[in-house]
Amino acid sequence: MLLARENGFCFGVKKAVELTEAAAETGRPVHNLGQVVHNPKISQRLAARGVKIINDPADAAEGIVVIRAHGVPPKVREQIEQRGLECIDATCSLVLRAQRFTKQLADEGYTVILLGTPDHPEVVGLVAYAGDNYRIVETEEQWKKLPKMKRAGVVSQSTQPPWAFTALVAHVATIAQEMKVYNTVCPVTVKRQVAASELAEQVKTIIVVGGKNSANTRELVNLARMQGRDAYHIEDAKELQPSWVRGQERVGLIGGCSTPMDTLIEVKERIEALGSTEPVPA
Ligand code: SF4
Repeated sequence: MLLARENGFCFGVKKAVELTEAAAETGRPVHNLGQVVHNPKISQRLAARGVKIINDPADAAEGIVVIRAHGVPPKVREQIEQRGLECIDATCSLVLRAQRFTKQLADEGYTVILLGTPDHPEVVGLVAYAGDNYRIVETEEQWKKLPKMKRAGVVSQSTQPPWAFTALVAHVATIAQEMKVYNTVCPVTVKRQVAASELAEQVKTIIVVGGKNSANTRELVNLARMQGRDAYHIEDAKELQPSWVRGQERVGLIGGCSTPMDTLIEVKERIEALGSTEPVPA
């Protein structure tokens, strides 16, 4: 079995989890506004410490609200403060940077073109900085339909693949008289994607571990499939099907940026057990 050379939490996820854990230590009611990071194991671990997930600041009567790594629109932060709740901001510094650039483009009069998934929380936060004049695109089919424009400013959701960002920028150069580009693709996810590609070159089957709603994890699955590999996306060892790994000479294993190492190690042990001739525990 081959483990990718990049694994474990990225610094943004690590910070968000640590800030929530530290808040829980205070003994006050602690709320995560949405999943603090897109991983069910982390949510369960925090729930065991009394942390509740809410979807709206109005759902917190008292205590602390932790803003997720993906960030929120400014009005949500205002709502938290207006309700007299303590706000701990766990927005990743790279997402804050993307929010700053998005606002700057809007303030300078550019039509903001955002590469991202429209309902992803990070994108919901980013467009709140984009003023009234913005477009969200996720696929080539969508960006090919963009109209000609005078001034286009391009930014990206952090977990979008760099090749898609490059292709979008190349296309916008053909439809805009003036363009400004801020590359806000997260370098940590790029490194993880490179590691997934390297892994795909060496194996036929790849197991990708991470939240089903984790954009960066799903991107690893896409990449492996684009390289013609059998890629399976699971959240924990229980989901692993023996038929995926039995008889395989080597199986690749990689986790998303919000996948805890202990979950990855459980999956690794399960793959090894399934590959052995010993009886496998249920
Ligand atoms: S994946 Fe990148 S942008 Fe997202 S939390 Fe991690 S470091 Fe920050």
